[in-house]
Amino acid sequence: MYLTRRNFLALLSSAACSSLIIGSDAEAVAGKYATIIDITRCDGCKGEAIPRCVKACREYNKDRFPEPKKPIQPYWPRSTFEDWSDKRDLVDTLTPYNWIFVQKVNIDGKELNIPRRCMHCDNPPCVRQCPFGALTKQPEGNSVINDKLCFGGAKCRDVCPWQIPQRQAGVGIYLKILPKYAGGGVMYKCDLCKDKIRRGEEPACVIACKERLGEKAVFTFGERNRIFEIAQRKVKEEGLYLYGSSQNGGTSTLYLSNIPFEIIEKALEVNKERFKMAVNIENKIITTFNPIGKVLLLSGLLSLIGGIVGAIITKKREKGVLNEKKDKETQSC
Ligand code: SF4
Ligand code: SF4
Ligand code: SF4
Repeated sequence: MYLTRRNFLALLSSAACSSLIIGSDAEAVAGKYATIIDITRCDGCKGEAIPRCVKACREYNKDRFPEPKKPIQPYWPRSTFEDWSDKRDLVDTLTPYNWIFVQKVNIDGKELNIPRRCMHCDNPPCVRQCPFGALTKQPEGNSVINDKLCFGGAKCRDVCPWQIPQRQAGVGIYLKILPKYAGGGVMYKCDLCKDKIRRGEEPACVIACKERLGEKAVFTFGERNRIFEIAQRKVKEEGLYLYGSSQNGGTSTLYLSNIPFEIIEKALEVNKERFKMAVNIENKIITTFNPIGKVLLLSGLLSLIGGIVGAIITKKREKGVLNEKKDKETQSC
Protein backbone atom coordinates (compact mmCIF):
# COMPACT_ATOMS: atom_id res chain seq x y z
CA MET A 1 0.00 0.00 0.00
CA TYR A 2 1.49 3.40 -0.98
CA LEU A 3 0.85 5.87 1.79
CA THR A 4 1.29 9.63 1.38
CA ARG A 5 1.62 11.94 4.39
CA ARG A 6 -1.85 13.29 3.71
CA ASN A 7 -3.31 9.78 3.65
CA PHE A 8 -1.50 8.98 6.85
CA LEU A 9 -2.93 12.02 8.65
CA ALA A 10 -6.42 11.04 7.52
CA LEU A 11 -5.77 7.50 8.70
CA LEU A 12 -4.45 8.68 12.04
CA SER A 13 -7.46 10.93 12.63
CA SER A 14 -9.88 8.17 11.74
CA ALA A 15 -8.00 5.73 13.95
CA ALA A 16 -8.20 8.22 16.83
CA CYS A 17 -11.93 8.64 16.31
CA SER A 18 -12.56 4.93 15.88
CA SER A 19 -10.64 4.02 19.01
CA LEU A 20 -12.64 6.56 20.96
CA ILE A 21 -15.91 5.27 19.56
CA ILE A 22 -14.91 1.67 20.24
CA GLY A 23 -13.70 2.64 23.70
CA SER A 24 -17.01 4.27 24.56
CA ASP A 25 -18.74 0.90 24.37
CA ALA A 26 -17.66 -1.17 27.36
CA GLU A 27 -20.46 -3.72 26.93
CA ALA A 28 -19.46 -7.32 26.30
CA VAL A 29 -20.46 -8.53 22.84
CA ALA A 30 -20.86 -12.27 22.46
CA GLY A 31 -19.89 -13.46 18.98
CA LYS A 32 -21.38 -16.15 16.82
CA TYR A 33 -18.90 -18.94 17.62
CA ALA A 34 -17.07 -20.43 20.60
CA THR A 35 -14.54 -23.23 21.18
CA ILE A 36 -14.14 -25.88 23.87
CA ILE A 37 -10.57 -26.98 24.59
CA ASP A 38 -10.85 -30.16 26.67
CA ILE A 39 -7.39 -30.66 28.12
CA THR A 40 -8.34 -34.04 29.62
CA ARG A 41 -8.12 -35.33 26.02
CA CYS A 42 -4.86 -33.70 24.88
CA ASP A 43 -1.65 -35.76 24.92
CA GLY A 44 0.36 -33.10 23.08
CA CYS A 45 0.36 -35.37 20.00
CA LYS A 46 2.79 -37.71 21.68
CA GLY A 47 5.33 -39.19 19.29
CA GLU A 48 4.85 -36.52 16.64
CA ALA A 49 7.52 -33.91 15.90
CA ILE A 50 5.08 -31.01 16.06
CA PRO A 51 1.59 -31.12 17.61
CA ARG A 52 -0.90 -31.33 14.76
CA CYS A 53 -2.88 -28.27 15.84
CA VAL A 54 0.33 -26.20 15.83
CA LYS A 55 1.46 -27.61 12.49
CA ALA A 56 -1.93 -26.90 10.89
CA CYS A 57 -1.96 -23.31 12.15
CA ARG A 58 1.55 -22.64 10.83
CA GLU A 59 0.73 -24.18 7.47
CA TYR A 60 -2.56 -22.33 7.07
CA ASN A 61 -1.17 -18.92 8.09
CA LYS A 62 2.35 -19.12 6.64
CA ASP A 63 1.72 -16.56 3.90
CA ARG A 64 0.82 -13.99 6.56
CA PHE A 65 3.98 -14.36 8.61
CA PRO A 66 6.25 -11.29 8.70
CA GLU A 67 9.29 -10.85 6.43
CA PRO A 68 11.23 -8.05 8.14
CA LYS A 69 13.57 -5.66 6.35
CA LYS A 70 17.08 -6.10 7.70
CA PRO A 71 19.09 -4.68 9.34
CA ILE A 72 16.34 -3.73 11.79
CA GLN A 73 16.90 -0.33 13.42
CA PRO A 74 16.07 0.31 17.08
CA TYR A 75 13.45 3.00 17.69
CA TRP A 76 13.20 5.68 20.34
CA PRO A 77 13.11 5.39 23.34
CA ARG A 78 14.16 1.73 23.25
CA SER A 79 17.61 0.50 22.34
CA THR A 80 16.41 -3.01 21.44
CA PHE A 81 13.72 -4.52 19.24
CA GLU A 82 11.80 -7.79 19.09
CA ASP A 83 12.98 -9.98 16.24
CA TRP A 84 11.72 -13.57 16.01
CA SER A 85 12.56 -14.02 12.36
CA ASP A 86 15.63 -16.17 13.07
CA LYS A 87 13.60 -18.27 15.52
CA ARG A 88 10.64 -19.00 13.32
CA ASP A 89 10.99 -22.74 13.91
CA LEU A 90 10.05 -22.36 17.59
CA VAL A 91 6.84 -24.28 18.29
CA ASP A 92 6.78 -24.35 22.10
CA THR A 93 5.81 -20.72 22.70
CA LEU A 94 3.82 -17.92 21.05
CA THR A 95 5.74 -15.88 18.48
CA PRO A 96 4.75 -13.85 15.40
CA TYR A 97 5.38 -17.14 13.51
CA ASN A 98 3.57 -19.46 15.92
CA TRP A 99 0.06 -18.47 16.97
CA ILE A 100 -0.75 -21.56 19.06
CA PHE A 101 1.43 -23.80 21.22
CA VAL A 102 0.89 -26.71 23.57
CA GLN A 103 1.97 -25.78 27.08
CA LYS A 104 3.20 -28.62 29.26
CA VAL A 105 2.86 -28.63 33.02
CA ASN A 106 3.49 -31.41 35.50
CA ILE A 107 1.06 -31.72 38.40
CA ASP A 108 1.63 -34.53 40.94
CA GLY A 109 3.53 -36.58 38.37
CA LYS A 110 0.84 -36.17 35.71
CA GLU A 111 1.66 -34.23 32.56
CA LEU A 112 -0.97 -31.80 31.36
CA ASN A 113 -0.97 -30.50 27.78
CA ILE A 114 -2.71 -27.16 27.34
CA PRO A 115 -3.15 -25.73 23.83
CA ARG A 116 -2.75 -21.94 24.22
CA ARG A 117 -3.83 -19.23 21.80
CA CYS A 118 -5.99 -16.07 21.86
CA MET A 119 -9.09 -16.52 24.04
CA HIS A 120 -11.20 -14.19 21.82
CA CYS A 121 -12.67 -12.26 24.72
CA ASP A 122 -16.24 -10.96 24.69
CA ASN A 123 -15.06 -7.46 25.62
CA PRO A 124 -11.45 -7.52 24.45
CA PRO A 125 -9.16 -4.90 25.99
CA CYS A 126 -6.79 -5.35 23.03
CA VAL A 127 -9.51 -4.14 20.66
CA ARG A 128 -10.79 -1.35 22.89
CA GLN A 129 -7.42 0.09 23.79
CA CYS A 130 -5.43 0.00 20.57
CA PRO A 131 -4.67 3.72 19.98
CA PHE A 132 -4.76 3.25 16.20
CA GLY A 133 -7.95 1.20 15.96
CA ALA A 134 -5.90 -1.63 14.41
CA LEU A 135 -7.89 -4.36 16.16
CA THR A 136 -11.53 -5.21 15.63
CA LYS A 137 -13.97 -7.65 17.13
CA GLN A 138 -15.72 -9.55 14.38
CA PRO A 139 -19.35 -10.75 14.40
CA GLU A 140 -18.01 -14.30 14.62
CA GLY A 141 -16.58 -13.42 18.04
CA ASN A 142 -12.90 -13.29 17.06
CA SER A 143 -10.58 -10.36 17.66
CA VAL A 144 -8.46 -9.54 14.64
CA ILE A 145 -5.33 -7.42 14.15
CA ASN A 146 -5.12 -5.43 10.89
CA ASP A 147 -1.42 -5.69 10.00
CA LYS A 148 -1.76 -2.67 7.65
CA LEU A 149 -2.77 -0.38 10.55
CA CYS A 150 -0.72 -1.84 13.40
CA PHE A 151 2.28 0.23 14.56
CA GLY A 152 3.50 -2.51 16.91
CA GLY A 153 3.30 -0.38 20.04
CA ALA A 154 2.22 -3.55 21.90
CA LYS A 155 -0.59 -1.87 23.83
CA CYS A 156 -2.72 -4.92 22.96
CA ARG A 157 -0.21 -7.22 24.67
CA ASP A 158 0.10 -4.93 27.69
CA VAL A 159 -3.66 -5.01 28.31
CA CYS A 160 -4.19 -8.69 27.43
CA PRO A 161 -4.41 -10.71 30.67
CA TRP A 162 -2.59 -13.56 28.89
CA GLN A 163 -0.06 -11.40 26.93
CA ILE A 164 -1.07 -13.18 23.74
CA PRO A 165 -0.11 -10.83 20.83
CA GLN A 166 3.56 -11.02 19.81
CA ARG A 167 5.63 -8.34 18.09
CA GLN A 168 7.92 -8.55 15.08
CA ALA A 169 10.09 -5.50 14.35
CA GLY A 170 11.21 -4.41 10.88
CA VAL A 171 7.76 -4.74 9.28
CA GLY A 172 4.69 -2.57 9.03
CA ILE A 173 3.48 0.96 8.59
CA TYR A 174 5.88 2.49 11.14
CA LEU A 175 8.75 2.01 8.68
CA LYS A 176 7.04 4.35 6.20
CA ILE A 177 5.83 6.93 8.68
CA LEU A 178 7.91 7.22 11.84
CA PRO A 179 10.62 4.54 11.70
CA LYS A 180 12.43 5.86 14.76
CA TYR A 181 9.67 7.23 16.94
CA ALA A 182 6.51 5.11 16.85
CA GLY A 183 5.59 1.55 17.56
CA GLY A 184 8.26 -0.74 16.29
CA GLY A 185 6.70 -3.48 14.18
CA VAL A 186 3.46 -5.39 13.88
CA MET A 187 1.65 -7.54 16.44
CA TYR A 188 0.57 -11.07 15.49
CA LYS A 189 -1.80 -13.60 17.07
CA CYS A 190 -4.50 -16.17 16.36
CA ASP A 191 -7.52 -14.64 14.62
CA LEU A 192 -9.57 -17.86 14.80
CA CYS A 193 -8.89 -18.45 11.09
CA LYS A 194 -11.05 -15.44 10.25
CA ASP A 195 -11.55 -16.21 6.56
CA LYS A 196 -12.35 -19.87 7.14
CA ILE A 197 -14.94 -19.26 9.85
CA ARG A 198 -16.53 -16.49 7.79
CA ARG A 199 -17.04 -19.11 5.07
CA GLY A 200 -18.65 -21.40 7.66
CA GLU A 201 -15.62 -23.73 7.93
CA GLU A 202 -13.85 -24.80 11.10
CA PRO A 203 -10.43 -23.41 12.10
CA ALA A 204 -7.35 -25.29 10.86
CA CYS A 205 -6.23 -26.40 14.35
CA VAL A 206 -9.69 -27.79 15.13
CA ILE A 207 -9.78 -29.82 11.90
CA ALA A 208 -6.24 -31.17 12.48
CA CYS A 209 -7.06 -32.41 15.99
CA LYS A 210 -10.31 -33.99 14.77
CA GLU A 211 -8.45 -35.82 12.02
CA ARG A 212 -6.26 -37.44 14.67
CA LEU A 213 -8.70 -38.04 17.52
CA GLY A 214 -12.11 -38.14 15.84
CA GLU A 215 -14.98 -38.03 18.34
CA LYS A 216 -12.47 -37.59 21.17
CA ALA A 217 -10.95 -34.43 19.72
CA VAL A 218 -9.70 -31.80 22.16
CA PHE A 219 -11.39 -28.94 20.30
CA THR A 220 -15.12 -28.58 19.80
CA PHE A 221 -16.00 -25.56 17.67
CA GLY A 222 -19.44 -24.25 16.80
CA GLU A 223 -22.36 -21.95 17.53
CA ARG A 224 -21.75 -20.24 20.83
CA ASN A 225 -24.95 -21.28 22.60
CA ARG A 226 -24.44 -24.93 21.72
CA ILE A 227 -20.78 -24.86 22.80
CA PHE A 228 -21.65 -23.25 26.14
CA GLU A 229 -24.39 -25.85 26.70
CA ILE A 230 -22.00 -28.73 25.98
CA ALA A 231 -19.38 -27.26 28.34
CA GLN A 232 -21.90 -26.73 31.15
CA ARG A 233 -23.21 -30.27 30.71
CA LYS A 234 -19.70 -31.72 30.95
CA VAL A 235 -19.05 -29.70 34.10
CA LYS A 236 -22.23 -31.07 35.63
CA GLU A 237 -22.10 -34.67 34.42
CA GLU A 238 -18.34 -35.35 34.32
CA GLY A 239 -17.32 -33.11 37.23
CA LEU A 240 -14.91 -31.10 35.06
CA TYR A 241 -13.66 -27.61 35.85
CA LEU A 242 -14.27 -24.67 33.51
CA TYR A 243 -11.99 -21.77 32.56
CA GLY A 244 -12.76 -18.87 30.21
CA SER A 245 -16.47 -18.27 30.77
CA SER A 246 -15.95 -15.56 33.37
CA GLN A 247 -12.27 -14.57 33.13
CA ASN A 248 -11.67 -11.09 31.71
CA GLY A 249 -15.45 -10.56 31.66
CA GLY A 250 -16.05 -13.70 29.55
CA THR A 251 -14.43 -15.18 26.44
CA SER A 252 -15.38 -17.48 23.61
CA THR A 253 -12.79 -20.12 24.57
CA LEU A 254 -13.80 -22.59 27.24
CA TYR A 255 -11.16 -24.85 28.77
CA LEU A 256 -12.26 -28.04 30.51
CA SER A 257 -10.04 -29.87 32.98
CA ASN A 258 -10.31 -32.55 35.66
CA ILE A 259 -7.82 -30.57 37.75
CA PRO A 260 -9.01 -27.28 39.29
CA PHE A 261 -7.64 -24.27 37.41
CA GLU A 262 -6.41 -22.76 40.68
CA ILE A 263 -3.93 -25.68 40.84
CA ILE A 264 -2.95 -25.27 37.20
CA GLU A 265 -2.46 -21.52 37.78
CA LYS A 266 -0.18 -22.23 40.73
CA ALA A 267 1.86 -24.84 38.81
CA LEU A 268 2.43 -22.38 35.94
CA GLU A 269 3.44 -19.71 38.46
CA VAL A 270 5.91 -22.05 40.18
CA ASN A 271 7.42 -22.96 36.78
CA LYS A 272 7.75 -19.22 36.01
CA GLU A 273 5.97 -19.85 32.72
CA ARG A 274 5.84 -16.96 30.24
CA PHE A 275 2.13 -17.65 29.61
CA LYS A 276 0.06 -17.97 32.75
CA MET A 277 -3.58 -18.85 33.46
CA ALA A 278 -4.77 -16.67 36.33
CA VAL A 279 -8.21 -17.63 37.59
CA ASN A 280 -9.23 -14.24 38.94
CA ILE A 281 -9.06 -11.82 36.05
CA GLU A 282 -11.24 -8.76 36.03
CA ASN A 283 -11.94 -6.95 32.78
CA LYS A 284 -9.52 -4.03 32.61
CA ILE A 285 -11.79 -2.04 30.29
CA ILE A 286 -14.09 -1.31 33.21
CA THR A 287 -11.26 -0.48 35.61
CA THR A 288 -8.83 1.37 33.35
CA PHE A 289 -10.63 2.70 30.28
CA ASN A 290 -12.40 5.51 32.10
CA PRO A 291 -13.40 8.96 30.75
CA ILE A 292 -10.15 10.49 32.03
CA GLY A 293 -8.20 7.87 30.09
CA LYS A 294 -10.16 8.73 26.95
CA VAL A 295 -9.41 12.44 27.30
CA LEU A 296 -5.71 11.68 27.81
CA LEU A 297 -5.70 9.35 24.81
CA LEU A 298 -7.42 11.96 22.63
CA SER A 299 -5.06 14.72 23.71
CA GLY A 300 -2.07 12.42 23.13
CA LEU A 301 -3.23 11.57 19.63
CA LEU A 302 -4.04 15.18 18.80
CA SER A 303 -0.54 16.21 19.99
CA LEU A 304 0.97 13.53 17.77
CA ILE A 305 -1.08 14.70 14.78
CA GLY A 306 -0.18 18.33 15.60
CA GLY A 307 3.50 17.43 15.88
CA ILE A 308 3.53 15.69 12.51
CA VAL A 309 1.62 18.50 10.79
CA GLY A 310 4.01 21.03 12.37
CA ALA A 311 7.03 19.08 11.18
CA ILE A 312 5.67 18.89 7.62
CA ILE A 313 4.88 22.63 7.51
CA THR A 314 8.35 23.50 8.86
CA LYS A 315 9.97 21.24 6.28
CA LYS A 316 7.95 22.82 3.47
CA ARG A 317 8.84 26.34 4.68
CA GLU A 318 12.54 25.48 4.85
CA LYS A 319 12.34 24.10 1.33
CA GLY A 320 10.59 27.32 0.17
CA VAL A 321 13.29 29.52 1.75
CA LEU A 322 16.02 27.41 0.17
CA ASN A 323 14.40 27.66 -3.28
CA GLU A 324 14.01 31.43 -2.84
CA LYS A 325 17.68 31.72 -1.90
CA LYS A 326 18.72 29.64 -4.91
CA ASP A 327 16.59 31.85 -7.22
CA LYS A 328 18.23 35.01 -5.84
CA GLU A 329 21.71 33.56 -6.29
CA THR A 330 20.91 32.58 -9.88
CA GLN A 331 19.60 36.09 -10.62
CA SER A 332 22.69 37.81 -9.13
CA CYS A 333 24.95 35.61 -11.32
S1 SF4 B 1 -3.75 -31.73 17.84
FE1 SF4 B 1 -5.15 -32.14 19.52
S2 SF4 B 1 -4.15 -33.76 20.71
FE2 SF4 B 1 -2.59 -32.89 19.38
S3 SF4 B 1 -1.63 -31.33 20.65
FE3 SF4 B 1 -3.21 -30.32 19.47
S4 SF4 B 1 -4.98 -30.31 20.80
FE4 SF4 B 1 -3.57 -31.83 21.63
S1 SF4 C 1 -7.00 -13.06 24.85
FE1 SF4 C 1 -5.86 -11.13 24.79
S2 SF4 C 1 -5.42 -10.82 22.62
FE2 SF4 C 1 -7.05 -12.33 22.73
S3 SF4 C 1 -8.97 -11.14 22.62
FE3 SF4 C 1 -8.50 -11.39 24.81
S4 SF4 C 1 -7.35 -9.53 25.31
FE4 SF4 C 1 -7.32 -9.72 23.09
S1 SF4 D 1 -7.88 -20.79 15.14
FE1 SF4 D 1 -6.63 -20.64 13.27
S2 SF4 D 1 -5.22 -18.95 13.71
FE2 SF4 D 1 -6.08 -19.60 15.68
S3 SF4 D 1 -4.65 -21.10 16.48
FE3 SF4 D 1 -6.21 -22.25 15.38
S4 SF4 D 1 -5.36 -22.45 13.29
FE4 SF4 D 1 -4.20 -20.85 14.32
